[in-house]
Amino acid sequence: MASRRQIWVGGVPIGGGAPVAVQSMTKTETADFDATMKQIRDIADAGGDLVRCAVPREKDVDALKRIVVESPIPVIADIHFNYTLALKAIDAGAHCIRLNPGNIGGPDKVAQVAEKAKAAGVPMRIGVNSGSLPKHLHELERENSVEALVQAAVEFVELMERLDFENFKVSIKSTSVPNTIASNRLLSEKIDYPLHLGITEAGTKWSGSLKSAVGLGTLLADGIGDTIRISLSTFHAEEEVNVAWEILKALKLRERGPVLIACPTCGRLQFDMDTVVTEIEQRLESYEQPIEVAVLGCAVNGIGEASHADFGITGAKNEGLIFAGGKPLRKVPTERLVDELFVEIDRSLDLGRTEVDEGKSAEGAEWLAKIEEENADDLTPERLAALEAANADGTNGNGEVKPAMGIGAGYKRVRLDEELSPTAGRRFTRS
Ligand code: SF4
Repeated sequence: MASRRQIWVGGVPIGGGAPVAVQSMTKTETADFDATMKQIRDIADAGGDLVRCAVPREKDVDALKRIVVESPIPVIADIHFNYTLALKAIDAGAHCIRLNPGNIGGPDKVAQVAEKAKAAGVPMRIGVNSGSLPKHLHELERENSVEALVQAAVEFVELMERLDFENFKVSIKSTSVPNTIASNRLLSEKIDYPLHLGITEAGTKWSGSLKSAVGLGTLLADGIGDTIRISLSTFHAEEEVNVAWEILKALKLRERGPVLIACPTCGRLQFDMDTVVTEIEQRLESYEQPIEVAVLGCAVNGIGEASHADFGITGAKNEGLIFAGGKPLRKVPTERLVDELFVEIDRSLDLGRTEVDEGKSAEGAEWLAKIEEENADDLTPERLAALEAANADGTNGNGEVKPAMGIGAGYKRVRLDEELSPTAGRRFTRS
């Protein structure tokens, strides 16, 4: 169940149907004001909605007072063990306090923090970690770690409600992806407070990103989770933000910047796709518009499954084609493909629409059709996928009821046209 309640961390709504908020945590000593502010700006520039800073010492509270003023995004103070630091962080102007009620010194200390937070209108994140469950749940933890995690979280929620404090979000974190999924699913059935999702100590950029994408992606696809943090073993916190955005973009939960799609390549590849894709990805980093750009390694399938992309290229040995919204724009020499692609992207973004030169478009379409015709017998990955889809829905790939036939008899008739890949979500008109 998606959270029903909503809280506000600074000016950012969390839960209750608000967009899933992206957060990261600074990896600097918070007391090092300049280094911390630089990292906060990097996080904000990458699209972080919120930032969390560790506050383990008095000198971190001192820096926090300046950080909350200078930070372009709301700041969450991360407190463990020392409730007086939580009280001071509230006085320092923190926009939210993260604490684990189980390690802050007992319910009376939690009560003092809750009372001060309530008076200041500051929300809290109360968290449970798989490594630090209360003693009375250790036996349950050995029997059923998921139930123990959820029980701990529910007990903390009940404690806060007894303290008449409801301005909080809840997190259950585990290093185990299956436990994270199972415990958050169960918790979301039991409470309606906003949920913070994350996989604890997920790992390196590679493994941590994958674990987070599987764990958080599964929950987010279920509608569970209101704010996410990707924990990666890197000093560059903005990389956590980038991964979070890729997950949200993949699930179509939020839009930010371009989306690059590229074929996986195969033996039909006609140009140096690795270099081209890398260059396009880097150049797209400076764009804020949510355009979709496709790169196809050969023209054997025509524009095919990339017909929904706002812009794309497909190459052959000496020449390639630039297309937009499923329509050829023009042929260019292969070595000019990337530069000319960006000429078209920039022009379209400036105009708010893509201009099509019908003569050049027809020339490109003819070139494409010739390559398709020459390779009509080729069972490319895309044609196989189209055949599987057509077999699954009982048509021959052209929307006609499929006659009894084997793959070999039918595949030439399958064209990856709009019936199989309907153009959807285009952001530009063609003229
Ligand atoms: S057949 Fe498909 S996967 Fe292979 S290079 Fe061409 S577009 Fe890429």
